[in-house]
Amino acid sequence: MTTKRAYKERFYPTTEQAELLAKSFGCARFVYNNTLRHRTDAYYKNGESISHADAEKRLVPLKKEFPWLGEISSVILQQCLRDQQEAFKNFWAGRAKYPKFKKKNARQSIRLTKAAFNYRDGQLFIAKSREPLAIRWSRELPSEPSSITISKDYAGRYFVSMLCEFEPKPMPITAKMVGIDLGLKDLFITSEGEKSGNPKFTKRYEHKLAHLQRKLAKKQKGSKNRAKAKRKVARLHAKIADCRMDASHKASRKLINENQVICVEDLAVKNMIKNPKLAKHIADANWGEFVRQLEYKAKWAGRTVAVIDRFFPSSKRCPGCGYINESLPLSVREWDCPECSSHWDRDIAAAMNIKTAGLAGLACGATGTGILA
Ligand SMILES: [Zn+2]
Repeated sequence: MTTKRAYKERFYPTTEQAELLAKSFGCARFVYNNTLRHRTDAYYKNGESISHADAEKRLVPLKKEFPWLGEISSVILQQCLRDQQEAFKNFWAGRAKYPKFKKKNARQSIRLTKAAFNYRDGQLFIAKSREPLAIRWSRELPSEPSSITISKDYAGRYFVSMLCEFEPKPMPITAKMVGIDLGLKDLFITSEGEKSGNPKFTKRYEHKLAHLQRKLAKKQKGSKNRAKAKRKVARLHAKIADCRMDASHKASRKLINENQVICVEDLAVKNMIKNPKLAKHIADANWGEFVRQLEYKAKWAGRTVAVIDRFFPSSKRCPGCGYINESLPLSVREWDCPECSSHWDRDIAAAMNIKTAGLAGLACGATGTGILA
């Protein structure tokens, strides 16, 4: 079984490459926005919908009208129209909102298909530039990339994401199975009673962020110092996001390495908490990303992630005898079962219940939302 995977690495462009990329980002953004405007107008004025073929045909007159579009590889412009087509398809299918205009002051990106890049001897070359990209490789690519995406984030850092075919290697089978309860104080608690801890990066950098933001507020609008201060804030945000991602990868890797089956709750329940104070912490805990990582890592390793039903009373049930508490407010961290008088840590009991439900669902094939690798 081969599958596709994106390998993202940071790189440092030469001055010439930075200029070429700035031009490419600008041209792609221009064509994307111009076409989006054309499509929207056509729809509102004449109720017409523009096909992908029609949108592509407009490239020739556009290039005549704006000759500078010819300074970059046309593959990039064609690709950005294909991406727009995809965005429309998702919109029509009800999966996404109406495509948005691309902004100059946001993350920039372009996608290159094989005609616009070349990968040889472990080096990546892009069209119209003779030097390879100075990539800080963190690992070897398993195969030649079929497409690449080059991006520049708000903090001014460049990344290249390379889509490659690779053959996942299943890990040796283990008998260990675990249930996890996603939390805030701890990112997760296992049915074995292990508490993962939660680094809470937003909180850790709160003061520094506030300090930088106060400095930014004092700078004059449009000044060079303001741009500098803005970049510093963006860099810190990027750092926080990186730390969070890194912690999530380490934790999901550990769970996958150690367990054959991992049972988790449906996140729809978790995200129902309507407390604005908690919402900030939930964003910081990054549950959705964590479960996504568990699922794809499980698939590659030959492990199973079982997602239990959203109406299962995971936190109110006694794992010992099955007694279900009528209510168990969030503030109650430990409780005694009135039926069998076992003493429980709320989160560990929840994780144990999640494990029981997940395994039961797997056994009878009813874990409908479970991803079976
Ligand atoms: Zn009990």
